[in-house]
This record gives sequence, C-alpha cells and structure tokens, in this order.
Amino acid sequence: MRLVIFGPPGAGKGTQAGLLEQRRGITQVSTGDILRAAMDQETELGRKAKSYIEAGELVPDALVRQLAEQAIADEGYDDFVLDGYPRTEQQAAWLTEFLTAHDTPLNAVVSLDVPDDELVRRLSRRRVHADTGETYHLDHDPPPEDVDDDLIVQRSDDKPETIRNRLNVYRDETAPLASYYEDRGLLVSVDGTGGIEEVFERIVEVLESRAHSA
Ligand code: AMP
Repeated sequence: MRLVIFGPPGAGKGTQAGLLEQRRGITQVSTGDILRAAMDQETELGRKAKSYIEAGELVPDALVRQLAEQAIADEGYDDFVLDGYPRTEQQAAWLTEFLTAHDTPLNAVVSLDVPDDELVRRLSRRRVHADTGETYHLDHDPPPEDVDDDLIVQRSDDKPETIRNRLNVYRDETAPLASYYEDRGLLVSVDGTGGIEEVFERIVEVLESRAHSA
C-alpha cells in the first residue's frame, strides 16, 4: 500500500507511521528522520538543513525531493508510508509526477486531525531518546525508569518559539495540500486525538473500508 500520513507537527504522524511499519509491514519514510540523521552525521545535506530545521522553517523543496524519491526507489515503489512529505504544493506536484512515471500512484492520504492547543501541549512535552530516536511524552508516555536521564532530550525544534513558527509554516504552506488530495479523491480524515492505539485502530478501519469499497 502506498500512503501519505498528513497533518500538523505533533499530530502523531511519526508514531502512527511507525506502527504501520511494525504491524503492517508498510515501510515508514520520514524526511524529518532522514534529515536529523544527516545532521547528526554532519553530512553536507545535514549542514545545509540544520539552520532551517532549528528555526522551524521548511528545508528547500529540491533538497527533500531528492531524498524522498531516493527512499521510495530504495523501497521498490510499493508499501511505503510517507511521513512528513510532501509539505508544499511543489513537493506534492513532484510526488504525483514521480509516482505516475512509475505507474505506482498513492492509495490514500491519511490526515490526522488534532486541535492546535493539543498540538502545542504534545510538542512541548515531547522528548526523544538521543540514541534510538524513540519518542516519549512526559505525561502520557514517559521514558522507562531504567533509561539514563541524560539520554532523554528535547528536539531542538520543540522549543516554544520554534513550535509556534512550525505551526504557522504548516498553516501557510502545508495545510492547503488537504484540498489538493481531496480533489484527487485520496484524502481520508481521521480523528487524531486520544490514545495512540485508539488512533491506530481508526486509521486501520478507514484504510480497510477504503480497500473494500475500491
Ligand atoms: P518532522 O520530523 O517531520 O517534524 O520534520 C522536522 C523538520 O525537518 C521540519 O520542521 C522541516 O524543517 C524539515 N522537513 C522535514 N520534512 C520536510 C519536507 N518535506 N519539506 C521541507 N522540510 C522538511
């Protein structure tokens, strides 16, 4: 199945894409994870991306296009869930063109709906494991007690000023993609509030009912 998981920062895209990979064998392709790994390894891509990411801005389209297309090609064009790509109309147009050229169009775009105040609460309390990238929420899903506290860190773009900027960038640049995909009959909206398992069940349900009605 070829999917995009779509929604604002903090909606749970990474968490749900991770579950789709673990439980359904659909490979998660996260441009954010690829960029963060490049930053950690101080590659040329990482150096170019760093200032944008830390300011909560989008990395230039051409840079992410290349890495998303490479990741899809590595995956063999089937069974992937794009998490964090596309984020602009230009990226969406390129993705459509790329997948059409390989005769592997998207099956669905799952939009996770979460109100703004809940997004800010989630992002400001989010922490990650510095080595594994595992994410936690200090209130609802705290790190296990045996994990060394020094390894539990806040993403540099989860600071309050940057969170606000990321939400503005989302509203201006990314949110309009919902109508792009709605017009193509691909958008399915899922309530992204509540527990992780609850949201996962909703996603599986909408994907199954879509597959049956196809
Ligand atoms: P994420 O982990 O998906 O929240 O992405 C973290 C940051 O990486 C974003 O705030 C952007 O700076 C950058 N990024 C990730 N994906 C993209 C994309 N598709 N287009 C532009 N920038 C991106």
